[in-house]
Amino acid sequence: MPRTAYRGRFAPSPTGPLHAGSLVAALASWLDARAHHGTWLVRIEDIDPPRCPPGADQTILQQLAQCHLLPDEAPAWQSQRHSHYAQALVQLQQAGLAYACGCTRKDIEAAWQHLGLSHQRHVERPYPGTCRQGLHGKPVRSWRFALDAYVSNWPAAQTWQALSAPFSMIDGGLHWHDRRLGPQQQCPGQVAGDFVLQRADGLYAYQLAVVVDDALQGITHVVRGEDLADNTPRQLLLQHALGLQHPQYLHTPLVRMPDGEKLSKQHGAPAVELHQPLQALNAAAQVLQLPAANPETTVADALAQWVEIWRSTYNAQRD
Ligand code: GLU
Repeated sequence: MPRTAYRGRFAPSPTGPLHAGSLVAALASWLDARAHHGTWLVRIEDIDPPRCPPGADQTILQQLAQCHLLPDEAPAWQSQRHSHYAQALVQLQQAGLAYACGCTRKDIEAAWQHLGLSHQRHVERPYPGTCRQGLHGKPVRSWRFALDAYVSNWPAAQTWQALSAPFSMIDGGLHWHDRRLGPQQQCPGQVAGDFVLQRADGLYAYQLAVVVDDALQGITHVVRGEDLADNTPRQLLLQHALGLQHPQYLHTPLVRMPDGEKLSKQHGAPAVELHQPLQALNAAAQVLQLPAANPETTVADALAQWVEIWRSTYNAQRD
């Protein structure tokens, strides 16, 4: 099959088998790659081993195969890529864009209370900046991205970055474009603040790993669930700080429980049934507002029909 410069990926965290929600992201990213005549990769994001039961990665790959969602290159495992994350962290440290933090969760909680930022469900609170000017005698626990400083020095930072950014910063607000959601805006200093790059247990944080891997794998288009849309500004800024290319982003609708909560493993989402791939794909297609395929149709034919519709919906051009 002819391939274009397009490179997309599905990047599941193997905390369990694929469920109806994660299948939506898998199907959407596959359709977008096929609609662009591009390359589709699978990256197993097992960056947090205690959360990844043994064998879940293989189950996910089998479930994808059963649904005819086959990667064009051998899958990658984040657990085997630590040296790349370490290198990126050193780059940020050397540029003065990462600093050591000695705060425990309790310290941060206390600082929030002091600032009157009480806990609200689903509301992220920014790191209060306690260790920005030094550790105050505390041992190093984690490393943080100096987001606040980076954003407040934005015009100066722009001059030493040759890459043109597909986003703009206006008064601390980051404006970017999502291919499905349209224009987006967030003040990353108020939402996330100086976020963690390397955790107290030594593990690299999702934000760092995802940015490094998307760049090293040459990903041009990220298609993933809408619950991750809020992470995009952090990732755009990290890409900028590391001098990496920026992919385009499309965030898909989520599968929701009757109470409006996102379907997730924590909410007991059942695994996608391996013996009923078309039924599972039809449910995912419905979330993506694609017509259900006739139960007599083959999986391959259903996928081919959806690629055509996806192409006209998202205006995928051959690039
Ligand atoms: N590993 C993340 C998840 O399963 C997805 C990361 C991404 O697509 O950027 O939620």
